[in-house]
Amino acid sequence: MSQYPAQGPPPITTQPQSITVINAPVILGPGPQAMTCPVCHAQIMTDVSDKAIPKTHGFAILICCLGGVLGCCLFPYCISSCQGQEHACPNCRHTLGFYK
Ligand SMILES: [Zn+2]
Repeated sequence: MSQYPAQGPPPITTQPQSITVINAPVILGPGPQAMTCPVCHAQIMTDVSDKAIPKTHGFAILICCLGGVLGCCLFPYCISSCQGQEHACPNCRHTLGFYK
């Protein structure tokens, strides 16, 4: 068995890595979900924050205080961005999905 010296470093084969790109947030349940984070690949329980809920009431109260016509105060409840729960990874803090 003959031994030949290594002819430099082995050729680097560039293979396209399959990177998980989160385009659309996944719709999750109302509570913390056990899942594998697609960003940091850690086994995590999603961190649920419902900070949007008080904002929804705040907007409604604000509109009512500003003399909004009855019905306009319900407007924030119709805006999806004003309500719902956000699931985030406790490890990398990446937003993983929403529950509405
Ligand atoms: Zn993560």
